Amino acid sequence: ADHSFDYPARPQDVDWHAMYPNIQEGQQVSFADIGCGYGGFLVTLGEMFPEKLSIGMEIRVKVSDYVVDRIKALRHKSGEAGGAYQNIACIRTNAMKYLPNYFAKGQLEKMFFLYPDPHFKRAKHKWRIINQALLSEYAYVLKKGGLVYTMTDVEDLHKWIVSHMEQHPLYQRLDEQAANADPITPKLYQSSEEGAKVVRNKGDHFLAIFQRL
Ligand code: SAM
Repeated sequence: ADHSFDYPARPQDVDWHAMYPNIQEGQQVSFADIGCGYGGFLVTLGEMFPEKLSIGMEIRVKVSDYVVDRIKALRHKSGEAGGAYQNIACIRTNAMKYLPNYFAKGQLEKMFFLYPDPHFKRAKHKWRIINQALLSEYAYVLKKGGLVYTMTDVEDLHKWIVSHMEQHPLYQRLDEQAANADPITPKLYQSSEEGAKVVRNKGDHFLAIFQRL
């Protein structure tokens, strides 16, 4: 339940240095993996973008603890402070509620929603991690020109996401050519645990990338 969430009043109240020991003065998190699960994609982001800080946000305490331990182990293996994986971190939070507590206006360059949990019943639609109110909140923390990546194996959810994003005045979907040209695109299929499962089961994936206008 939410009463157990400890969350900052403002982004500047977060102890970023505790999460990113090598963070430079004035440096900020650029990429956010929302509902990061076991952190497979977060690790990929850290490897692909050594100069950027990436954060995973995960609501389940056991899962976020796992990711924190996973990052600790990766840092240790790569030689601690001078090594790799200093640029990724995971926090346990409800990303549907607290994003503006963590990120300033226009801060994020990329947000990822990879295999978000679908809620099928109409009454539950407001709990979907993509809805009109939340899209405005995501637009607030995103930089102009920033990108939102969405991937799901549930076609109905994909359609829901695309229709809501396209209705929203602050987003424009990238065409197929632009989406396929993004170096992150091939990683989206494999490097999250959920994605790898779908690939193993030879299921469908539905990708959409949107630009913050
Ligand atoms: N993105 C990962 C992947 O592709 O493997 C995990 C996908 S899993 C199906 C969805 C994850 O989102 C779960 O780990 C769940 O706990 C998390 N989640 C759901 N609602 C959330 C919220 N409001 N805030 C943060 N995480 C959330």
